[in-house]
Amino acid sequence: MGYLGGFLVTLRQRGKKQRTTRPYVKDEGHKRDKPERLHGRHVLNRYEDGMEKCIGCELCAGVCPASCIYVRGADNPPDDPVSPGERYGFVYEINYLRCIHCDLCVEACPTEAITESKLFEFSFTNRSDAIYTKAELVVDDAGLPQQLPWEDWTDAEVVAPLTSAWMRATSSSGDAAYEGRVAWSGELGFGVRDPEQGQTAPDAPASPPAGSGGHH
Ligand code: SF4
Ligand code: SF4
Repeated sequence: MGYLGGFLVTLRQRGKKQRTTRPYVKDEGHKRDKPERLHGRHVLNRYEDGMEKCIGCELCAGVCPASCIYVRGADNPPDDPVSPGERYGFVYEINYLRCIHCDLCVEACPTEAITESKLFEFSFTNRSDAIYTKAELVVDDAGLPQQLPWEDWTDAEVVAPLTSAWMRATSSSGDAAYEGRVAWSGELGFGVRDPEQGQTAPDAPASPPAGSGGHH
């Protein structure tokens, strides 16, 4: 394209409605409500007595399609156990340069140790901040996510308690007797959370019928 052709392109654009890029909304009053199913930054949960739920089984790392979880389990010290299990998550890291927030780790976890909060507004300027360590992922003594310097927690009151995601659904290979039952275990600071969106099942049996297999 010659000089004149380029000039004509410019002229043709004049008068057309141009797209504008709006500045990022920092004001909480103007932010959209977060969808109930939003998958944000993870937390590692603790039981009501403060013990960690992670047993270092590595199932989350195995299922992660982005290979961004690194777990190393260790035997619980008998005198000062970290988790109620035989083992606990000694090292736990999530690389947020790779995570696609698919939630498969949450689905795979047998103890509901790993869940995702609704926080998605975080930006880091170096690789080490992007790789969250266990010390950063474990909830604080109130059961809330830690607020790291590079995360935007302006709506913390609304978002911080939302860490348990959707109540676990009965798996396809699970026992039908458990369908619709609230299956989350108690959490530090919250106890057993209420079911969401009509998934209450007040008539559901507390234990599976005899001979039904007993797993869910
Ligand atoms: S949300 Fe998905 S990509 Fe991210 S750590 Fe979990 S399994 Fe991996
Ligand atoms: S977070 Fe869950 S799946 Fe991952 S190592 Fe801990 S207990 Fe196992």
